[in-house]
Amino acid sequence: MIIAIDGTSASGKTTLARRLAARLGYLYFDTGVMYRALTLAGLRQGLDMSDEPGLSLLAEGITIDVTSPTASDGRPCTVLMDGEDVTWAIRSPEVDDSVSQASIYPGVRSALTLQQRRIGLRGRVVMVGRDIGTVVLPEAELKFFMTASLEARARRRHAELTLLGETVGLAEVERSLAERDRIDSQRAVAPLRAAPDAVVIDTTELPAESVLALALDRVAARERTAPAEDARGPAGPGVSGGAQERK
Ligand code: C5P
Repeated sequence: MIIAIDGTSASGKTTLARRLAARLGYLYFDTGVMYRALTLAGLRQGLDMSDEPGLSLLAEGITIDVTSPTASDGRPCTVLMDGEDVTWAIRSPEVDDSVSQASIYPGVRSALTLQQRRIGLRGRVVMVGRDIGTVVLPEAELKFFMTASLEARARRRHAELTLLGETVGLAEVERSLAERDRIDSQRAVAPLRAAPDAVVIDTTELPAESVLALALDRVAARERTAPAEDARGPAGPGVSGGAQERK
């Protein structure tokens, strides 16, 4: 089965995806790290985020590898950019502020989407992003779209940044998240939106355990209702769960 998890920034996608993947023995793949690594490379090269040809060229040439964690420092995976470990460098506020702009360009998206789709089609994967259920893997058998209030998301992201040693204020984090969501939702190519057949989960009031339980219910229901489709393999036609759910 392919499981797609999309949603707004800091809505709990990563937490759910990691737990779901661990529980099911699936590969966890966060596509945001690819856009972040590209942005970091662009910033280091002094590229302006309005430089569409420059960033597109960079996306075609860059090698981004995502592997199992190579250090026990809390990382969910290790991200290598042309061989360099950039796992934590891609989480800086500077990257946060530029990544959505770098992600609007068709050339950037097609280069990265191609790699993501290749990995996803192997199946047994929980893939996280903004456009997985709509563009990267529309055939995913199970799709979740996660959201939460801006205040709740800003609090979570602020706590994460503080743990990383960044001294950024809560109001600034909230501004940055809102701006990222605005750009991600309004871009012409692969905008952030729920697939029609996605299960929508609002995590504002839901603890992570409840979100996981809800998602596992859906996985079980999907396995019960469509064993025939699943048996045809991950690249087979997907019949998705349908019902929209708001909790
Ligand atoms: O998920 P994360 O916050 O790490 O993603 C960083 C940014 O990368 C998003 O705000 C978005 O601009 C971009 N992104 C995207 N499509 C994806 C994943 C991430 O445009 N599939």
